[in-house]
Amino acid sequence: MAKPKVATTSLAGCFGCHMSILDIDDRILDLVEIIDFDKSPINDIKEFTGECLVGIVEGGCANEENVRVLQDFRKHCKILISLGDCAINGGLPAMRNTIPLKECLDEAYLNGPSVHNSTGKIPNDPEIPLLLDKVYPCHEVVKVDYHLPGCPPSAETIWQALTALLTDKPLELPYELIKYD
Ligand code: SF4
Repeated sequence: MAKPKVATTSLAGCFGCHMSILDIDDRILDLVEIIDFDKSPINDIKEFTGECLVGIVEGGCANEENVRVLQDFRKHCKILISLGDCAINGGLPAMRNTIPLKECLDEAYLNGPSVHNSTGKIPNDPEIPLLLDKVYPCHEVVKVDYHLPGCPPSAETIWQALTALLTDKPLELPYELIKYD
């Protein structure tokens, strides 16, 4: 029988949540006994090869490409998980939400104290994904089934959540694994 598939992606995140997935250490060998990784930076598969049982998303949506990837995950994954505070509430990248986008770009490319930009232009190559007006948490863009908080969530949290979902058990994590303090 074909194994269920799990896909992961990093949107506007720092890959710390993916490091936490890898932190499950040698249990990853148990995991690959029961699942196949589909599209993921873990195996460098760039496109979905089919439908997935679980999609894990790190990071919120800061640009149009993030939105496209997130919508693609929603389309291909039966269960979608927002992994970590950036996916759940925008996290650190959302600190720009209180500043108009133009001011952010001017500071980054024109007026910042360490900027040396002889062109005096803000990069606008069509290859560069357009920034959104602000950073959006994933659940404001698509329906999200589960939120795993933390920066990053611990490897144990990820392990217990994944194994519950993969074995069709209720996802009831102890308080110690999902507390914020
Ligand atoms: S939640 Fe923390 S570890 Fe995860 S992507 Fe955001 S900043 Fe990185």
